[in-house]
Amino acid sequence: MIIRPPQKTDQLLQLEVMQERYLDVPPNISESFGRELAGYLGEKSLPYFIDLITTTSHYDLYGLRLERNNHHFQIDCLILFPSFFLITEIKHLKGKLFINEAHQLIQSKESEEKVYQHPLSQAKLQKEQLKKVLEDLGFESIPIYTLVIFTHDQANITFEHPDMIPVQQLPFRLGELTQEFSDPRLERNQLLQLGKRLVSMHRERPLTFLQPTGEVLRNIRRGVFCPKCKPLVMKWTHGTWKCSKCGYKDKNAHILALIDFVFMFGYTINNRQARWFLLLDSIYTASRILRTLKVESYGGNKNKTYNLRFLLNSYKGRA
Ligand SMILES: [Zn+2]
Repeated sequence: MIIRPPQKTDQLLQLEVMQERYLDVPPNISESFGRELAGYLGEKSLPYFIDLITTTSHYDLYGLRLERNNHHFQIDCLILFPSFFLITEIKHLKGKLFINEAHQLIQSKESEEKVYQHPLSQAKLQKEQLKKVLEDLGFESIPIYTLVIFTHDQANITFEHPDMIPVQQLPFRLGELTQEFSDPRLERNQLLQLGKRLVSMHRERPLTFLQPTGEVLRNIRRGVFCPKCKPLVMKWTHGTWKCSKCGYKDKNAHILALIDFVFMFGYTINNRQARWFLLLDSIYTASRILRTLKVESYGGNKNKTYNLRFLLNSYKGRA
C-alpha cells in the first residue's frame, strides 16, 4: 500500500512555471528542470514493479524528506516491510553508466561525461540518518537495507552489483530480500502508524524566488494565458477574461496566472504588481480581482498586500 505517492515537488512545479513564463529560459533553470523532472519520472515508474511482488504486505513512502539535527535528508522510496525497511535510491539516468576507480558514478552520453556520488554510499548515508530518526520514535532493532534502482529505459549499466540494479530486476530482488529477512518484527498496524508518522514529519524543500531585477522582469512572459492558445494571453473585458483568437472565456482565469506569479516572485502581491503581471490598466479592476480571491490581506488602501499562499495550497491539493 502506498502511503505517500510519488508527487511533483514544489521545486518541479516552480520550474514548470518558469519553463513557460521565461521568454528565454536561463540554462541553469533548464538544467534544474531536467534534474527535478527525472527524479519525479524515476519515482513514478517504481510502483508498477513493486506491485509485481505481492508476497508480504508493505507500506511505501515516496519522496520523503526528513529533518534531524537541522540536517535534511531525502529518501526516494522507503518501503516498510514487517521484517525490514528498504531505502531505495532511484537514478533516472540514460546513457552509459559506470563506476570509476574512485567509486563515483559516471554517466556518459552524447560525448559528455557527468560525475555523481556513488549512489550506494548516498543510500547508506540516508540509512544512518533514518536509523536515528527511528530510534527517536522508539523503533530500534529493525534492519534497514539499501538498494539503488536505475529506472531509465535508455540506461546502459556496465557493472554488476546485487544492490544496484535496473528496475526490471526489482521484483526478483525484493523476493530475495523478503526471504532473507523473514522474521516479522512489526505488526501491520504498527507499520501503518509509523508510515503515517513519517509522512507527518515530511518537510518540503523551501522555494527560492526570483529577484525582480530589470533583466529578469524584461525576460518574463506576463499576462493571463489562454489555456488553449498559450502563451497567447487573454484580455479582461466586461468582467471576464476572453481570448481574442479562440473566443474562450473564463472569469477566474487570473487564478492560474497568480499561482505562476507566486512560484516566481513569492507569496504576496500588491495592486501595482498585479496590474503589471496580469496586464491590467485599471487600479479598480486589479483591486476588484484581488478582492474576489478572498485571501488574507494587510496594509492600507494604497499599499494593500494580499497573501496568495492559500491559492498555492489549494492548487497543489488538486495537482
Ligand atoms: Zn484561446
